[in-house]
Amino acid sequence: MTIISANLQAVQSRIAAAAKQADRPAESIKLIAVSKTVPLEKVREAARCGQRAFGENYVQEGLLKAQALPELEWHFIGPLQSNKTRVIAEHFSWVHGIDRLKIAERLSAARGAQRTPLQVCIQINISEEATKHGVGPAEAAHLARAVARLPHLCLRGLMAIPEVAENPALTQKRFAALRRLLEELNHDGLQLDTLSMGMTQDLEVAIQEGATIVRVGTAIFGERGLH
Ligand SMILES: *Cc1c(COP(=O)(O)O)cnc(C)c1O
Repeated sequence: MTIISANLQAVQSRIAAAAKQADRPAESIKLIAVSKTVPLEKVREAARCGQRAFGENYVQEGLLKAQALPELEWHFIGPLQSNKTRVIAEHFSWVHGIDRLKIAERLSAARGAQRTPLQVCIQINISEEATKHGVGPAEAAHLARAVARLPHLCLRGLMAIPEVAENPALTQKRFAALRRLLEELNHDGLQLDTLSMGMTQDLEVAIQEGATIVRVGTAIFGERGLH
């Protein structure tokens, strides 16, 4: 057994155990293998082990991988720039980091009607840190309603990356706040089914709080070098 297949199995076991603990079916949680900085060969290996969904942060790198392995499901999880929206709309199935209407409009226009809608999440700055990407919780409803109206996007839910915290209780509080925000938006008439939250360090807490997508890099591919 290779290291990647053993790592993938270990992550699946963590997801299954956390799901059981939360009294949720393990199938309600989708694993995205975050392959930023990881060579294509290792992505191929993970795909041979049955992993379908991969996440990339950098447009050029993600584009090369998505073109080489178009049969896989590619998620763009990095910060968005408006001059890169066409490439992303053409080569990715999902975008997790929507935080401005302008970017969402460009993605929708570039996606067009010929393809299935681009699946998107709005990124929430759940810790309200000055430096982080994402929209503040108070502006979420306004942005979500506008994004939900765009013709070639399908708004699926919310994504967040909480601040790095020593104390798991703080992380749990952030994930719970994201879940409540999603519930409020649905109460106001949106139909969102996705909470993209939880990474290598905190996927159990995220699943406890209702994550439907966890984005895991290090636990699958090992420590990353500097990009
Ligand atoms: C890098 C990254 C991940 C994966 O983080 P790990 O700690 O390696 O699991 C998840 N989400 C986003 C947005 C990332 O940039």
